[in-house]
Amino acid sequence: MDEFLPEEIPAIRDSVIKFMETQVNPVMDGYEERGEAPRDLVLKAGEAGFFGAVFPESVGGTDLGYLAAVVIQEEVARNDIRFAACLNQQSSTCPNFIYYGGTPEQVMKYVPNLVAGKTIGMMSLTEPGGGSDALGAMKTVAKREGDVYKINGSKMWASLANETDVGVLVCKTDPDAGAKGVSAFIVEPKKYPGWTAQPVPMMGLSKAFRTNALFLDDFTVPVENLIGKEGDGFKIAMRALQPGRVTVAAKALGIARAAFDEAVKYANERVIKGSPIGKFQMIQSDIADMSAQIEASRTLIYHAAQCLDANLPSNRIASIAKYHASLTAKFVADKAQQIFGGYGLSTEYKISYLKAYSDMFYTGEGTANVQKIVIAEDALGYKLADRHHGSSTLRNPRLSDVARELQGAE
Ligand SMILES: Cc1cc2nc3c(=O)[nH]c(=O)nc-3n(C[C@H](O)[C@H](O)[C@H](O)COP(=O)(O)OP(=O)(O)OC[C@H]3O[C@@H](n4cnc5c(N)ncnc54)[C@H](O)[C@@H]3O)c2cc1C
Repeated sequence: MDEFLPEEIPAIRDSVIKFMETQVNPVMDGYEERGEAPRDLVLKAGEAGFFGAVFPESVGGTDLGYLAAVVIQEEVARNDIRFAACLNQQSSTCPNFIYYGGTPEQVMKYVPNLVAGKTIGMMSLTEPGGGSDALGAMKTVAKREGDVYKINGSKMWASLANETDVGVLVCKTDPDAGAKGVSAFIVEPKKYPGWTAQPVPMMGLSKAFRTNALFLDDFTVPVENLIGKEGDGFKIAMRALQPGRVTVAAKALGIARAAFDEAVKYANERVIKGSPIGKFQMIQSDIADMSAQIEASRTLIYHAAQCLDANLPSNRIASIAKYHASLTAKFVADKAQQIFGGYGLSTEYKISYLKAYSDMFYTGEGTANVQKIVIAEDALGYKLADRHHGSSTLRNPRLSDVARELQGAE
């Protein structure tokens, strides 16, 4: 496939592989054993430019685009899906909220440090009442008191909320106004009281990068950290989360490829009745199915990324790519575990946690059912997935440069 990609893409992939093989793979197990977030590795990945692909150079980005971003995410995830947990927080969801909806001053203050890996990001939308209908389940409220907002309520599945320096939190400012009562805030939990993040024990997932239940008790946010205006939060969230579906799909692809590589190696090494199990027809049938699904997934994801780069309608294809990639990761990890027999359940092999992550990506950033609703309603003509394309008034990091805006050039 490399023949059909822009010439810089294989070189980007090689640099990610080299970085992971020399900087991350040798030490990540140690962070996991200690339950310690690898902040120094996040900083090194930031310095290597892995978080800035979709942002302009003026905010520390590389301006390489979404195709580069998905290749980076795919390779990081293939090497170590546990480390990949930081990617969307540093390079997509969290900085996207700020870039799309923030003032130029907010963008310049927060995005460069996130992209450089100097601050750890976070984005908290989901509440205990449910993530698929995030708006309907939202009970957390921010109330303005003079120069600050006080936020009260609880959030669920807030990844990196126990580590974050600068994150984004979405909650209600007017509980009676539906989507128009939602606002997004830049949060700095290390500076202000009222923030308690409690890591959720998770079977097979990282102990270094944790996801959390989050309790907010008069948590303080300065008024200047509101993103956009009161009531803009839902609109910004929908826009900021959309490209994240494509990069999350790339992580799922990385999981599938890692599980596939392990399965192929094992099928060639494991000898039963004098023959490597890879010679058995039923194992070959699984290997063929796994390979075909991975290629299809990769084609969809790269196509979705190219649509984003070309500013073409991409909501429908992003949902298809995320749906297919999450099914593929689950299918391939499951088949790989079967090929490993009993050893697939042992923590001695990667397969056990690749399987856990494949389940996570089936649910996270929009469940498989939610993607199917988007795809089916578009196909049936009930709700076209790309009906809002081109109508957004929010800033897009691929199309505008905040630094020039500050100089009054845009
Ligand atoms: C490890 C992990 C990390 C996460 N990190 C973050 C994070 O950093 N920030 C954040 O905000 N969120 C995060 N999430 C939350 C994630 O986005 C939600 O789990 C997801 O949106 C689903 O919400 P839920 O778990 O509440 O399931 P629910 O919404 O309760 O759904 C339960 C089931 O019902 C199905 N369902 C729901 N609605 C429909 C429907 N209309 N038709 C048919 N089926 C339906 C779903 O597909 C699912 O199978 C994370 C989740 C996990 C597991």
